[in-house]
Amino acid sequence: MAKFRLGAGCSNNQAELFAVAEALEWLLHQSVVNTQRSACIYTDSEVSLALLRNHRIHLPTVERVRRLLFNLRGSWAIGLLWVKAHVGVLGNEVADILAKEAAGGMDLPESFSSVPRTFVRRVLHEGTVSSWNELWIHNDETAQYTKQFFPSVYARLRAQLKVNHKLTQALSAHGKNRAYLRRIGIIADDTCPCSEGVPQTWEHLIVDCVMFEPQRSRLIRRTVLGGSGWPVDLQVLVSKYLNDFTVFINEVNFDLF
Ligand SMILES: [Zn+2]
Repeated sequence: MAKFRLGAGCSNNQAELFAVAEALEWLLHQSVVNTQRSACIYTDSEVSLALLRNHRIHLPTVERVRRLLFNLRGSWAIGLLWVKAHVGVLGNEVADILAKEAAGGMDLPESFSSVPRTFVRRVLHEGTVSSWNELWIHNDETAQYTKQFFPSVYARLRAQLKVNHKLTQALSAHGKNRAYLRRIGIIADDTCPCSEGVPQTWEHLIVDCVMFEPQRSRLIRRTVLGGSGWPVDLQVLVSKYLNDFTVFINEVNFDLF
């Protein structure tokens, strides 16, 4: 009985194909004299069989099986057959038990450790997002306003934003609001022309500027009914009420200021 262990990043499909290849390798080393022999290899992996049949697939594990089948063709007639898993087929159940034993056998050397491309892509993606997040959360100088909506890069990636120029301005505090125009030196007074006598920031426009009460009423109704009340935490606003918030922003005509 042979047991093999694959590297930690290897996929189920690689393990299935590796097992088929090792069975074929075993056949290759049996001494066959004169008469042609036959063998059936059963696998419960439909994916593996489909990969082997698909001639556009040239993964190393697939090519290894094909090469072995080619080398065996003179002395062995080989069938590769699918068998349903977990229905009590004895050979399949035994293979399952042995596979679990081998997977836990950390003392076994790794027989195969070429991880699939999907694994590399996932590791690179996770590393990139993690670095991006570190930069985001440790930057105390810029984007303090945007951080109220998205305290982490993960929160931003979770939000299914349909970004347009209005939403971008509302989330970045840029655009034609008076606080921003004052900050970049275009106007001297950032007071909102509504009756409240406060700077016209995006927070003011979103939360309490009376000029947008009609457009805001639907959004407030949603957050109150949703148990978040008003004013609502900006992070909750984009994570729980994104659609209503987007509708509100798209209705606000801030080009008037
Ligand atoms: Zn106002």
